[in-house]
Amino acid sequence: MAETADQIYARVQAGGDLPAPSITEWDVFPWVVRDGAIAPKPLAPPSPEEPRAGEDGVDCSLCGADLPGVIWQDERWRVKHLKQSGLPLVLVLEPIEHYDLPDLDEHQAAEFGVLTVRIARIVESLPNIARCHAMRIGDGAEHLHMWFLARPKDLLSLRGSFSPDWDDILPPGPADVWRADLAEVARKLATHGGEALI
Ligand SMILES: [Zn+2]
Repeated sequence: MAETADQIYARVQAGGDLPAPSITEWDVFPWVVRDGAIAPKPLAPPSPEEPRAGEDGVDCSLCGADLPGVIWQDERWRVKHLKQSGLPLVLVLEPIEHYDLPDLDEHQAAEFGVLTVRIARIVESLPNIARCHAMRIGDGAEHLHMWFLARPKDLLSLRGSFSPDWDDILPPGPADVWRADLAEVARKLATHGGEALI
């Protein structure tokens, strides 16, 4: 069972001031401090698109079998976790073969939609989780990867589109709690098919 808002709050308070996460050093981070106040960075001039990681499946780190962190898989899709981070759960849904979102045919799109709803429903059914945000960005790697971010119930600072930032800001919670929630999601996904791998 995910930590309660009170447990997260107490743990974070005990750690003192939160350090700035590494995203503040990314070149796409849009804010700077100017004259002592937060301000937008100047817009860079247009430049040609850069290749994304794994374009056309060449040297794609998301292709292949035996990838780390997979908690559930069927013949065509897998759900995995990354390194534990600040939110209670962050999951990624990917096709096993190399497709970007616009590449999916109607049948694959239908499967993608069903799995997206299923994951969101399962994560939102966990105790102490208020919402499961789902998003596909796709500017980094070409291989389709859909993000699911669990937002803790009653922790209203974490609402909305800044929740990925909070995922980087907050320290990870207890690893055994995290793994138990991962296992519960995998178990529930497997009741519809596929195999739980955690
Ligand atoms: Zn790939």
